[in-house]
Amino acid sequence: MNCNESQNYIMRYFDKDLNDIEQAKLKQHLKNCEQCSEEFSNMQQIFTEIEQDTEFPEPPEDFELQVMNRIEKEAYMYQKQKDDNVFVYNILLVAVSLIFVIVFGSILWEALNKPIGLIQQTHLAFETVKDFLSATVSMIKGLTIAVVGVTASIYKTYYYAYLILGILLLVTQGLFIRMVKAGNGGAR
Ligand SMILES: [Zn+2]
Repeated sequence: MNCNESQNYIMRYFDKDLNDIEQAKLKQHLKNCEQCSEEFSNMQQIFTEIEQDTEFPEPPEDFELQVMNRIEKEAYMYQKQKDDNVFVYNILLVAVSLIFVIVFGSILWEALNKPIGLIQQTHLAFETVKDFLSATVSMIKGLTIAVVGVTASIYKTYYYAYLILGILLLVTQGLFIRMVKAGNGGAR
């Protein structure tokens, strides 16, 4: 084998295109030829590096940009979700406030419109005053909730606390309505 043939064999070796006999021939030449041996080891080094590069691919040029875009997108989605939650709480706030105003407003209205003749009876007068007071207290509580809700929308992080407060007040008011209704039923 001469050096020209060897060059050809070296190329084919790294193309994995040599059979066992050809590989043996090449090895034999490399043993005896320093120049080809050096050529071979250079090629081997290059191919080793290429293989390593294939195993650990370099990130694309805009990799950093892609990551930043991804983070921004995630942040946007998170913020949007948060805004949606705030929107739901605002709807709840309006609903709860409306319930308070309608229910206790109607109790107040009923209390104010009781026939004067009946109010003159001591027992009913007492009931009326009781209804009137409870309705007034409930209206104030409803207004308080509305004010708290507006404050909560400024300090968005307190929404959960506000929601729990609203539910607690709603339960308390529900019990109160039952008490008032039971009192009215007893009077009639
Ligand atoms: Zn040679």
